[in-house]
Parts: sequence; structure tokens; C-alpha cells
Amino acid sequence: MTKDIHAPDFCLRCLLREMRGQEAESLFAEIQEWIRAIPESYRADGKTVNMRLNACRTCPQLAEGVCKLCGCYVEYRAAHVLRNCPDLPPRWDADESWPGNTV
Ligand code: SF4
Repeated sequence: MTKDIHAPDFCLRCLLREMRGQEAESLFAEIQEWIRAIPESYRADGKTVNMRLNACRTCPQLAEGVCKLCGCYVEYRAAHVLRNCPDLPPRWDADESWPGNTV
């Protein structure tokens, strides 16, 4: 990973991928492993993940890559096709068009 000299080691409103420093970078690498372990049919597509994470970036519940409402790393939660935002009302929804969704 190339080092962005403008990226902070600590950032309350950042995603893990935007933070630098050994701890944040190794945690982000681990989360990418968790995401790869999600069965492909349950993994949200890139466009959906980006839309969800853009909502998280502007959310007051985001703290150092973690959602304060559910305790999840938002990059992991957003990668699950059937997860939604825990806020009321949700700032992003589960993918209702997912073929396995029977709701
Ligand atoms: S409340 Fe929703 S939008 Fe806010 S950080 Fe948590 S998952 Fe993201």
C-alpha cells in the first residue's frame, strides 16, 4: 500500500481504508479477509458498497471506522448484501433486489 502523507493515523470520521499507521492498516487488511470470506452471493457489489459507505462517511455515528450503533466495522457491514444500517430510519438499506430475498 502506498503511503498517503495526507492520510491521518487517527480520524474520527474516516473509514479504516482512509486511516494510516500500522494498526489501522493491518486491521483493514484483516477486514478485507473477512469480506473475502463472505460467500460471493452474499457480498454486495462495489456500487452498493460505495453508496453505503458514502452514507457512513457523513453519519455522526461513525467513529474510527466503527458504527457506534451496532459496533460493526462499517466496511464489513456494508459488504453484506442483506445487512442494513441500524439507525432509525436507516441511512442505507439491505439490497431488496437480491435474488435470495423472499421479503
Ligand atoms: S448508523 Fe448507519 S450510516 Fe451511520 S455509521 Fe452506522 S451503519 Fe453507517
